Amino acid sequence: MILPVSTLFNAWFLAVLWVLGLPLFAVAHQHVLSRGAADTPAVALTFDDGPNPDATPQILTILEQAHVQATFFVVGRCAQAYPDLIARMVRDGDAVENHSWGHEKTVLELPRAFRRSLQRTARAIEAAGAPPPRYFRPPYGAYATWTVKQAQSLGERVVRWSVPLSGDWRQPGTDIIVQRSLAGVKSGGIVVLHDGDEGKLCAGTPACDRRQDIVATARLIGELQARHFRLVTIPTLFEEHPVSRNVARDPVPNHLRVDRSGHDGSSA
Ligand SMILES: [Zn+2]
Repeated sequence: MILPVSTLFNAWFLAVLWVLGLPLFAVAHQHVLSRGAADTPAVALTFDDGPNPDATPQILTILEQAHVQATFFVVGRCAQAYPDLIARMVRDGDAVENHSWGHEKTVLELPRAFRRSLQRTARAIEAAGAPPPRYFRPPYGAYATWTVKQAQSLGERVVRWSVPLSGDWRQPGTDIIVQRSLAGVKSGGIVVLHDGDEGKLCAGTPACDRRQDIVATARLIGELQARHFRLVTIPTLFEEHPVSRNVARDPVPNHLRVDRSGHDGSSA
C-alpha cells in the first residue's frame, strides 16, 4: 500500500518526537492540561481542525438541540474564512479556542513564527466576535517547553486530551469512533473529534467529509448523558472545577501516549 506523503511525513515527525521526546518534553509536560477533576462527573467534547462549512453547522445544530456546549479548537485560516461559524459558536455558548493558524508542526517552527501563528489565530477568532482564546491545543498534540511557555505568555494554557484518539479522521465507521471514545472516558475526560481536516479550506470536497463525526457526535452525547456525565466546555472543565496540577497531569508524558493510543499522529 502506498501511503500519502503527508502520512509518511507525519509518521516521521512522530518518530522524531519519540526519540527526542523525553528529555525535551519532560519539563513542558508539567504545564500541559489533559483532564479535568476526576471527582467531577463532567466530560468535554472537543472538535479540532475547523470550522468547516460542510460539517460544523450540522455539529452545532446537534449540540444546540441537545442543549449542550462543546469546545472548538479552530485553525486560524478557517476562522478567518468562515467567521459566521465562529459567531454561531459564540451565540450557542460553545468555546472557541486556538489550534494554530495553519495546523503547523509547531515544535519545528522558529519561535517567532509560532508566536505569530497563535496571535494571528487569536485575532481571527476575536474579529469574528469571540472572546480571546485562553487555551491552545497543539496540532498533533506535539509540544515542547518553549512552545508551552510561549502559549502561556500569550495567556493561553496548553491542553491535549485524556481519551485516546479514536482515529475518526480516517473514517473508521461511526460505531468504532463511538466505541473507542466511550471506552476511555472517565470523569473529567476530554474527547477529541474533528469537524475539519487540518484546517484545509476544503468545502465541498471529500477532505471535508465529516459525516461519521457528525453521527458520532449525536450518539456520544446520548451515551455520555445516559452515563450521567455533564457535557461542558474546556473553560468550564478547568475553571469551574479546578484541579490540582497533579490531577491534571498524566503520569506518562502525554506526547508519548499518542502512539500507544493507536494514533499515528496524522491528525488531532
Ligand atoms: Zn488538528
